[in-house]
Amino acid sequence: MLQWLQRVKRKIKEQHSSIIYPHEGSPPPSQDTFAAIGELSRVVRNNPDAVEIYLALGNLYRSQGELERAIQLRTNLIARPHLEPQFKARAWFELGLDYKRAGILDRAQAALEQAHAITGDDPALIKEMARLAADSNNFQIASDYYELLGQPLPQAHYLVRASTQDEEKSRDSKAGYKLLEKALKVYPGSVEAWLEIVSRDYQQENWTNLRFDLKSALKNVHVDLRFALLEGLFQFVSTGPLSRDNEAGPSECSSIVVNIVAELEPDMLLCYYCAIFLKQCGKLDECLEWLEKTLVLGQDFWPARLEMLELSLDDQVMTQSFRTQLMFFLRRARHVKRFVCQRCGLKREQLFFNCPRCYSWHSISFRTQLGE
Ligand SMILES: [Zn+2]
Repeated sequence: MLQWLQRVKRKIKEQHSSIIYPHEGSPPPSQDTFAAIGELSRVVRNNPDAVEIYLALGNLYRSQGELERAIQLRTNLIARPHLEPQFKARAWFELGLDYKRAGILDRAQAALEQAHAITGDDPALIKEMARLAADSNNFQIASDYYELLGQPLPQAHYLVRASTQDEEKSRDSKAGYKLLEKALKVYPGSVEAWLEIVSRDYQQENWTNLRFDLKSALKNVHVDLRFALLEGLFQFVSTGPLSRDNEAGPSECSSIVVNIVAELEPDMLLCYYCAIFLKQCGKLDECLEWLEKTLVLGQDFWPARLEMLELSLDDQVMTQSFRTQLMFFLRRARHVKRFVCQRCGLKREQLFFNCPRCYSWHSISFRTQLGE
């Protein structure tokens, strides 16, 4: 019996090393592994060590993408009579993660709820339930779970998501604003909430409110995240419905941005965003002034140099060949991903508030140096 257990343990160890040092593709589980699983299901009772091994084996399968086998394993374990509640809860929990990985979100939720019925508000479990609710677009529920976990930042984030979920058609309903107000109440630095508020001001062409809200936003959002607010607003202005109907919108907005930033302590990124707001509505001389301010504050800040180069192109006399080569590099430079997660280094062109790779919140930063 002891010998057999050692063999299984060795087997698991071998499997583990294949994940840490993967060969080409994942090796298919050997007949020995299947035999081991069969033996395990017969032998595992209430021996804590054995149940741990059984659960670990399931996790191993999941990490290899062998989800059917992982699910089968948990199901066998759950069906076992007299299984201690803490192990049953663990099995339901892992089963939930198996289903989630398989993309069967309703079953994942049902399994996690079974675990919850046994353990109550276990933080690890609530965290998974929150993520699952978010993945299933149940933003209000996700927000409630994060409240339970005492994490106001994601709580506010999902309140904002809930506000835009119901407001796809009209951005001015009271219910949406209530959720945004609540988001700012629980987390006043919520850049997502402020972004939604200033976008609504812009869409409604309410310039007085935009001036007031943008000012408050820049005051409340963390200094390192102010760029995300202006980037988000810039994206909204560039693609928003107003840009088609009302040509004065972008110009009004750029004046408001510039006037507010001019009153703040000089900041390289904020100066840069003034420049691109101005460029977008054709105020090129002013744009150039703000690019120069940007470069005084950070001479290695490549996006400002890129804009300057583009602005000066028309004044240059070039051969056709030279122009072709230069345009090639300019196009490539436009595709450099500007944002990076400070935690894990993921690079993205689009804004993100929760890193898609390491799940850190508000870890985004602007790649001010090309080598970053
Ligand atoms: Zn990350």
